[in-house]
Amino acid sequence: MNANFLTTPITYLKNVGPQRADTLRSELGINTYQDLLQLFPNRYLDKTQYYKINQLQASGADIQIVGKIIHIKTVEQKRGKRLVATFVDETGQMELVWFRAQKWIRENLKLNEPYVVFGRISRYGGTFSMAHPEMELLSSHQKSLKIAMQPIYPSTEKLSTRGITNRVVSNMVQQLLLESKGQFQESLSSEILEGLRLISKSEALLNIHFPKSQELLAKAQFRLKFEELFFVQLQLISKKLIRKQKIKGMPFNEVGDYFNIFFKEHLPFELTNAQKKVIKEIRKDLGSNAQMNRLLQGDVGSGKTIVALLCMLLALDNGFQACLMAPTEILATQHYNGLKELLGEMQVEIALLTGSTKKSIRREIHESLQNGDLKILVGTHALLEDVVQFKNLGLAIIDEQHRFGVAQRSKLWHKNEIPPHVLVMTATPIPRTLAMSLYGDLDISVIDELPPGRKPVKTVHRFDSNRLKVFHFIKDEIKKGRQVYVVYPLIKESEALDYKDLMDGYESIARDFPLPDYQISIVHGKMKPADKDYEMERFLKGETQIMVATTVIEVGVNVPNASVMIIESAERFGLSQLHQLRGRVGRGAEQSYCILMTSHKLSEDTKTRLETMVRTNDGFEIAEVDLKLRGPGDLMGTQQSGMLNLRIADIVKDNQILKTARHHALQLLKEDPSLQKENNQPIRLAYQRMMQNKTIWNYIS
Ligand code: ADP
Ligand code: MG
Repeated sequence: MNANFLTTPITYLKNVGPQRADTLRSELGINTYQDLLQLFPNRYLDKTQYYKINQLQASGADIQIVGKIIHIKTVEQKRGKRLVATFVDETGQMELVWFRAQKWIRENLKLNEPYVVFGRISRYGGTFSMAHPEMELLSSHQKSLKIAMQPIYPSTEKLSTRGITNRVVSNMVQQLLLESKGQFQESLSSEILEGLRLISKSEALLNIHFPKSQELLAKAQFRLKFEELFFVQLQLISKKLIRKQKIKGMPFNEVGDYFNIFFKEHLPFELTNAQKKVIKEIRKDLGSNAQMNRLLQGDVGSGKTIVALLCMLLALDNGFQACLMAPTEILATQHYNGLKELLGEMQVEIALLTGSTKKSIRREIHESLQNGDLKILVGTHALLEDVVQFKNLGLAIIDEQHRFGVAQRSKLWHKNEIPPHVLVMTATPIPRTLAMSLYGDLDISVIDELPPGRKPVKTVHRFDSNRLKVFHFIKDEIKKGRQVYVVYPLIKESEALDYKDLMDGYESIARDFPLPDYQISIVHGKMKPADKDYEMERFLKGETQIMVATTVIEVGVNVPNASVMIIESAERFGLSQLHQLRGRVGRGAEQSYCILMTSHKLSEDTKTRLETMVRTNDGFEIAEVDLKLRGPGDLMGTQQSGMLNLRIADIVKDNQILKTARHHALQLLKEDPSLQKENNQPIRLAYQRMMQNKTIWNYIS
């Protein structure tokens, strides 16, 4: 087989002209032979199985039936005509329907001859029907019966209306396999193949498309899933190794006055064991010769800020600067104020840089940053601008990482000749197994313990019809001096509608909580940042008792006196978002409450989400449920991960295979880090090809 065979543009395949190629590209992302080969079937139809008409159910499954057409007629309808054939077997009758190509079909179909029809069953009234079935005369079907299982490929509306039916796709793949003579280059070593009893690449590709038996299909799936996960892990792990070996870090060997004085005189509370453990892990990284690249996971309120500060002080003790970047202006400001408060009387030059920092101050910051007077810079994306130049940035901390793209992170990284240590903090709990595969190139620390004395938030679910009771409850809490959040969903696709919901809600609250007894803040995405900040500020200072908002307040906002979180239309939020929102309360000494408001119409998934929220406050447990409900693709923080592009493996369902793949990748890199051994050449070549074609996602650069 020619080495370039797989990169051949799909137009060169027999029966694929420019037009079909275009549709394949836009609908399925298929550009080359390789792409088509990797269009794996969603499921398979057992071609040895034939249904009788009296066994039919409207299950939406693709099935095949043997029977005869006894009658054909054209039916006029409001828009256009349809062709309807009456199809019978010895058990009953059904309809075959065509909306297109009616003339051709009418002329070519034979009455009273046995056919095999294949397609999706639906039911209208009492009659079963199959629209645009694939048909074959039983006589030729019997001759061509080579495959026991028919692949069903992913399809789209457009594909089928343009005539690229499942049979067409399947023929294309067959053609491709024919041209390749069924020979594909092996990409795993014989050790791995034998050790795991995997079938060869060629055999796997043949059987994933046209399985010879159930058993071979299972083997093909296993082999291809393993291979896919193996190469992702290989990339993640080798990146990590390269970073550890080649990227010289700046060792922080000193523990000096900044750290010690703060620790002895300014630490406002005793650290939790989890905080101590995490600081120890980070200090070990910082003291080594390699660059740190660590993910710090800790549920909302677990106390990540103090950890960040202690690390920054270590940087300062070693003559370096540090920065802390947050995704929004509100958060950056809150971090800045929080750090200043923690530092108290201590002399540490710290500044805040955001989009709205005044020009004159901005200039001062740039200057003192460059000459090294400024030690800690807190801010938003504004830190990433080219004009922001550090004298010697030693540590970059990024809060709420899922809001930043990979490219943005690497921009920070490139601010120095030697990359700074990087600590990424996230409050989005990611189940461990998932984290391992998503962030396999980062080290991970977890704060798995809340500071003492926290009362878990009490969570309840209430229907909209109970709103009056809920309002009474709010009034009681406000009487006790507490503050209340009322949050509305914000979903991009229907922003206008959401805005209306929010404003309607605001008006109804304003009616029930009238001035001058009650003051209400409102914050939403359409406001100018300055107005938003003003409203936030009023709530923060306790000048308003109720904060009506969209999810802009989701992340990080800290108002300890707020003890009630009302989430409106809670059915429209994902689990991790609900959990994030709930994390806004329960920050003070008082008992806090989270009330999930919904309508009466709830799906099963929604019920599970609500029950989970009511049952537990544990972010990791919630993340596990979320993962099961939605799959990894929708989990926050995973959008930027290559794991989304997996073609056949599923990191949740195939977790066991993932572990095996990771184990083998680790083993391989330990024994043969640069893949020089003869036996590992197939792996090296395959890996190189994938990197060239960028079929493996580039993680953090
Ligand atoms: P998050 O992890 O959500 O960023 P923060 O760092 O904002 O959490 O901490 C939440 C609250 O808990 C803050 O008010 C902080 O002062 C307090 N806190 C953090 N660590 C401790 C501790 N060890 N003991 C008592 N309170 C703590
Ligand atoms: Mg925080």
